Amino acid sequence: MTARQLTGRCADGAERDHGSLFHYLEPGQWKALCGAKPGRRSAGWGSEVREFATCPRCIAKHDRVLAQQYGAAMTDPRRV
Ligand SMILES: [Zn+2]
Repeated sequence: MTARQLTGRCADGAERDHGSLFHYLEPGQWKALCGAKPGRRSAGWGSEVREFATCPRCIAKHDRVLAQQYGAAMTDPRRV
């Protein structure tokens, strides 16, 4: 999971919040975890890749995904 920034116009509502948020993006995915995606006239996702996103919705969703993964990992089959 990497964090990237949408580039281009702030035409669509998802990017009205500063337009500089970093969203979590799964490899090969066009759409961010929160559902944000580049508009038709946008240049797409920026080339700058960060480890952590700044989009609150992406962070919340990312936390839930991690919690599910940890929950699964902590389920010890020998105890069942
Ligand atoms: Zn986001």
